Amino acid sequence: MTEYAVTRATFDEVMVPNYAPQAMIPVRGEGSRVWDQEGSEYIDFAGGIAVNALGHCHPKLVQAVKEQSDKLWHLSNVYANEPALALAQKLTEISFAEKVFFCNSGTEANEAAFKLARKYAFDNVGPEKHEIISFTSSFHGRSLFAVTVGGQPKYCEGYAPVPGGVTHLPYNDLEALKAAISDKTCAVVMEPVQGEGGVIAAEPEFLRGVRELCDQHDALLVFDEVQTGVGRTGDLYAYMGTDVVPDILTSAKALGGGFPVGAMLTTTRVAKSFGFGSHGSTYGGNPMACAVALEAVSLINEPAVLEGVVHKNELFRTELAKINEKYGIFKEVRGKGLLIGAELVEEWHGKGKEFLAAAAKEGLMLLVAGPNVLRMTPSLVIPDEDIREGMAALERAVAKVVA
Ligand SMILES: *Cc1c(COP(=O)(O)O)cnc(C)c1O
Repeated sequence: MTEYAVTRATFDEVMVPNYAPQAMIPVRGEGSRVWDQEGSEYIDFAGGIAVNALGHCHPKLVQAVKEQSDKLWHLSNVYANEPALALAQKLTEISFAEKVFFCNSGTEANEAAFKLARKYAFDNVGPEKHEIISFTSSFHGRSLFAVTVGGQPKYCEGYAPVPGGVTHLPYNDLEALKAAISDKTCAVVMEPVQGEGGVIAAEPEFLRGVRELCDQHDALLVFDEVQTGVGRTGDLYAYMGTDVVPDILTSAKALGGGFPVGAMLTTTRVAKSFGFGSHGSTYGGNPMACAVALEAVSLINEPAVLEGVVHKNELFRTELAKINEKYGIFKEVRGKGLLIGAELVEEWHGKGKEFLAAAAKEGLMLLVAGPNVLRMTPSLVIPDEDIREGMAALERAVAKVVA
């Protein structure tokens, strides 16, 4: 095995400065616990940003990687492969979808979704039906098309000219959508719960209204479930806990339990517009990723795991309420399942990152969603004991920050 003589300082020497990682470097993980170079232990409430849905190094996922790595790593899509076909079969069995396109990330899944929506409208109506409606504060990834559809202007700054034909409307505002949608709209794109935007859920009435308006104007409804999908909200996909069904759904993050993989799910009718040669990916659907994802989805799509997510949400809320009783720092705790956001009170707005750094020092890995919201997206099977221990660390961190 290679020994690495690297430290956090190495990051500043050799990495493009688009990230600002915490001071410690984790080297090993097991379940919801992680150890750094110094051997210090952490409770992981971040889960690799809603990715490690079964914690670190889940034995069944390790086994899936090991078995597949002895068989076949990569082919390209010039050939079909068994793990990809089996995963596609599984995803179509357990969701509304009839067809699947594989890629390597959430961004790529969304790129495929946006392109398909345009192509479907082009094929069935014409080039004038190309407008995409999305929502303020939404996040759909970092490619140029994804930041353009995303509702956070800061991610577009400096990258103009960006693709045209995209409109942003306030989230949960049906009247605004009613006024803006037209027969030129090819797709309405939304997260059922906005993740990066601050952990904000769509209201049931809004969702129903969006679906109706899409139907009236023959626009496709695209659900970006990159963060909400694969058990995160307590349903396998968040749409399953609502009474609407999208036409296209994108999935990544938890799908591979830590192994990079993305998928776009849709119906046979819509999929037709991605005819031979219309889109593609070299790695998409590679056997390693699909073997792990099949195992991850199978393990997560169990009633005990999904019910556990709902129960653990309650424990998180109880523990956060206890901290809040003492320190009064949370304005609101929101979110669904194990996608939890705790918005800081006004006077601490803009200071989310300070809590992140303080938590790391106390042995807790935490996330933010924007400057004002502490976000928790732990493993879906995090033991209750780890939740309590992590909350004790959070309380110590809060005490230090507010002192
Ligand atoms: C993380 C995320 C993406 C981007 O996924 P990547 O794998 O980083 O490309 C897109 N949409 C949502 C809702 C996300 O949370």
